[in-house]
Amino acid sequence: MRPSLEKLRKFFRLEHQNGYNDTAIIGGLAKMLDFWESEARSDGISEDIIQAVLQRLGSYASLSPASRAEVLKGLWKRIGQQYPEAMQKKTAPPPRSQPLPASVEPAAPSAEAKRPAPPPPPRRSQPGRAESAPGGLTSATPAALRAELTVLQGVGPRHAQTLSKLGLRTLGDMLYYFPRRYEDYSQLKPIKELFYGQHVTVIGVVQSLHGRPIRGGQAQLVEAILSDGTAALRLAWFNQPWIINRLHAGDAIAVSGKVEQYLGRLVMNNPDFEPVEAESLHTNRIVPIYSLTEKITQKWLRGMMNQVVTYWAPRLVDHLPESVRKAAGLLPLGEAILQAHFPDSQDKLQAARKRLAFDEIFFLQMGVLRQKRDWQSVTARIFDVPEEWMEARIQALPFQLTAAQQRALEDILVDLGSGRPMNRLLQGDVGSGKTVVAALTASIVAHAGAQAAVMAPTSILAEQHFRNFSNLLAGENGILPQPAIRLLIGDTPEAEKESVRAGLQDGSVKVLIGTHALLEEPVQFSDLELAVIDEQHRFGVEQRASLRTKGRAPHLLVMTATPIPRSLALTLYGDLDLSVIDEMPLGRQPVSTHVLRPQERERAYTLIRSQVKSGRQAFIIYPLIEESDKIEARAAVDDYQMLSQEIFPDLKLGLLHGRMRPDEKETVMRRFRDGEFDILVSTTVVEVGVDVPNATVMLVEGANRFGLAQLHQLRGRVGRGAQQSYCLLIPDHEDAVENDRLQAMAESNDGFVLAERDLQQRGPGEFLGTRQSGYATGLRMASLTDVDLIESARSHAQQLFAQDAKLEAPENALLAEALERFWNEGVGDVS
Ligand code: ADP
Ligand code: MG
Repeated sequence: MRPSLEKLRKFFRLEHQNGYNDTAIIGGLAKMLDFWESEARSDGISEDIIQAVLQRLGSYASLSPASRAEVLKGLWKRIGQQYPEAMQKKTAPPPRSQPLPASVEPAAPSAEAKRPAPPPPPRRSQPGRAESAPGGLTSATPAALRAELTVLQGVGPRHAQTLSKLGLRTLGDMLYYFPRRYEDYSQLKPIKELFYGQHVTVIGVVQSLHGRPIRGGQAQLVEAILSDGTAALRLAWFNQPWIINRLHAGDAIAVSGKVEQYLGRLVMNNPDFEPVEAESLHTNRIVPIYSLTEKITQKWLRGMMNQVVTYWAPRLVDHLPESVRKAAGLLPLGEAILQAHFPDSQDKLQAARKRLAFDEIFFLQMGVLRQKRDWQSVTARIFDVPEEWMEARIQALPFQLTAAQQRALEDILVDLGSGRPMNRLLQGDVGSGKTVVAALTASIVAHAGAQAAVMAPTSILAEQHFRNFSNLLAGENGILPQPAIRLLIGDTPEAEKESVRAGLQDGSVKVLIGTHALLEEPVQFSDLELAVIDEQHRFGVEQRASLRTKGRAPHLLVMTATPIPRSLALTLYGDLDLSVIDEMPLGRQPVSTHVLRPQERERAYTLIRSQVKSGRQAFIIYPLIEESDKIEARAAVDDYQMLSQEIFPDLKLGLLHGRMRPDEKETVMRRFRDGEFDILVSTTVVEVGVDVPNATVMLVEGANRFGLAQLHQLRGRVGRGAQQSYCLLIPDHEDAVENDRLQAMAESNDGFVLAERDLQQRGPGEFLGTRQSGYATGLRMASLTDVDLIESARSHAQQLFAQDAKLEAPENALLAEALERFWNEGVGDVS
């Protein structure tokens, strides 16, 4: 085995033996990177493996032991796929190999432990946006900051128009238009000290420049020699002939890129470059780079910013009470804004960001606390549940509740007996068994004669809940007659809707399950005391609120399978109480996940065939190719024909897509569930919640088109029974095999780990889906993975709230104003 891999193996094994406490190397595993990287290069280890190791081990120290285990196992598995030699010795670390039909590589079992501490805050450098900055302006803000930009020298109506595209209308807006990133010229490397593989920025003077055709005139090459007095570096741009006119010998430029080697010399290929302004080099060694729009240059905007920020930032009056600011160790507002634009040092920049991020989280928390107080100021009906009765309900279930389900139920019982409306988020990975908890909750309310509503995002899911609730509540040992449980979806025939409405009015319907059809105006309950919302992230804030208003002060239970990292939950759902189902029902095995190249599709088919032979079923999912149901349906139909005629002519295939009528979908799903189909070919309509325990293969085509959360949801459709299940991910094209998300899927079965990753990679807006993103994109400086900061802001908000909830004290007056402004600009109700 190559020495560099041998080393990894040794240290990984040590780490494993030490219980992943990061002691395999003195100073932590990351220390290894100092020597390992060059050794791996000289061993000829592929670049993607090297990068994966650097990246994963770089943040290793900050992970919890459970995540560390996942990281090492994932890495080792990936290495084993490229370097099978590494897997050969029996002593190889983590992976115990599982035999897998159809010759798919063995998978590493996932760590059983749950929820790691969130990794360190990666600094999302976000484009600056000027709307609704926390505490932007108050009555103490100099009035001049409300002036239009045309008051600036050099800004006429045309420029003002252009700047408004960036959200910049007033001088005040400019203060909060933060740089997208910074160029740190204080950390410059002399060319002489560069080495292969580094990503760097260097500054120098262009010595010479010329262009020439290459590959027989097929392509254009522009080459330059850059010198900084210590040495010279070759720069090469392929097929960017315009560069020859943009640069000239004698220009001072900064270039950023990766140092590579060509014929033994160092070279930078296709580097980014920027002219260097002598004065910025001397005065501000860390130079802000702003997002631009057409017709303005970086230099011009930076000049304007400099004018406004250096003059006005020091004149700002801080809205944060001095006591809070001091206690939290924060810079004054003016200094923070100044340093955020034109930092004196990296430390000052961090301090500035900390202050500004604190404000954002602090404001969110204050709002959330206020909501919680409003919510709790009303009384709710008390449901006292006799213990024997509850015990009997639990005994009647076809299985034993997990301890986590039991705990969640106990939390709920306390809420229902409190006299205040329950406001609880029930969070649990796909397949953890949330439905039964909701059904038991509904049974309590219905048994006491009141009504419960259960809202799900799709009709398939609503129908499934309807069946489950009916079995649990109206079955053999049930407590309700079947007609007391009803289903209402868009497709319910009008006569049936009519009868449901009448039953709700006269109180004979106790549990109503449905889609957003429940929200329609004519649907009126006589005594709604419980609202359950499944897959709550699929609903908008208004929809949730609107279900609540169907009762006076109903208890609310929202459920989600999108594992929300704790930091995010604390921030966004601070007004909800949280119950987490962090345990799977007994006998579940982690789904063995593999990324296959498109050419390896045959292996996937072989696996499906062998699983079907032993009585199991499979899903084959096609992506939504365009934002059009029609096209999506057609693609699935075409593929279905190909699959059923050419690939699996001997098997029974079903087809499901969004264009089918709900009753058709329902029929197909039912037939699949009842085993009439071996394979269900589908678009993502099966994504949410559908439960077919006998299905053991989930094949996802075009897997690179899906988000991590969505892939995890899809994978959650299998692995619900006791058999080993498989998830096979096939990207559209070979290059996407290395796609980070797909690799992450193969490396982890833990929804919480994946959610953290998704959050880091895509930011909270994407993660939450467009509907809720408005809320989190209000955060420009704060990273939702920065738990320490969130917790500090949260506890300071709580303290202040405890002292002066209405912010009536004079020292809190500016904060009250700033808060009002922040919350009135579209950052609404969260629950
Ligand atoms: P989710 O949390 O994703 O909504 P479900 O409620 O659909 O999960 O449950 C998934 C499957 O697990 C269902 O088939 C359900 O009947 C089953 N299940 C739930 N709780 C248990 C348990 N304690 N023991 C065994 N099976 C359970
Ligand atoms: Mg569910």
